[in-house]
Amino acid sequence: MGQARKVVVATHNEGKMRELRSILNGFLPHEGQRIELVSAGQLGLPDPVETGTTFQQNALIKAGRAARESGLPALADDSGLVVDVMGAAPGILSARWSGRHGDDQANLELLLNQLNDIPDGHRGGRFVCAAALVIPDVPGYAVRGSQVTRTGEMPGSIIRQARGENGFGYDPIFVPRDQPRRARDQEPLTSAEMTSDEKNAISHRGKALAAIMPILVSWVLGDGRVRS
Ligand code: IMP
Repeated sequence: MGQARKVVVATHNEGKMRELRSILNGFLPHEGQRIELVSAGQLGLPDPVETGTTFQQNALIKAGRAARESGLPALADDSGLVVDVMGAAPGILSARWSGRHGDDQANLELLLNQLNDIPDGHRGGRFVCAAALVIPDVPGYAVRGSQVTRTGEMPGSIIRQARGENGFGYDPIFVPRDQPRRARDQEPLTSAEMTSDEKNAISHRGKALAAIMPILVSWVLGDGRVRS
């Protein structure tokens, strides 16, 4: 077996790294060369400012920066919640909707207040995730200097009261349309009431990453041709 090829993931979150490693494992060939995912945090790379106006742009900004600074292929994602009656909002501003970056509770409460007068049946929305892969312009890759994005969505609706302890962000107020089998004949589960496996199987992030992983394997280990 050859030496593993490194790919940097533009995150400082170890939980995200575990999730990505487990998704990647499903796409790796059983024999031969391997891919090792290392985080931007492990390499001491800073978090770039997200100046893009779309999920795709922000994912490309994060992956591009990590690829340039490390000289390695880089993978990044950017995600958020889009509520139908709010146009594109909170969207790319999801993490800082209340004005404080990363304050999940304040973000969720503000959104619930804003939607207070919106009747049930009109509270649809979706989580969106863009995944980006950037191959740096250095020798050794069949597709040097290339980039690609893939998007995944999880449609559902926003309820009125938070339920569930799992997940993060807006999970406690979001009921995904696609429910696990065990939820049949009972009140539908929020994504915070699902196990991580149940959520990953239907989630925006799970779908975007599953779509980009075959490209990653081909671009990093192979001849750059993606077989579908
Ligand atoms: P980022 O992708 O790290 O920029 O996260 C964007 C923000 O979107 C998070 O801080 C959450 O508020 C929200 N978000 C993204 N994905 C999810 C999810 O799966 N559940 C709940 N909230 C999410």
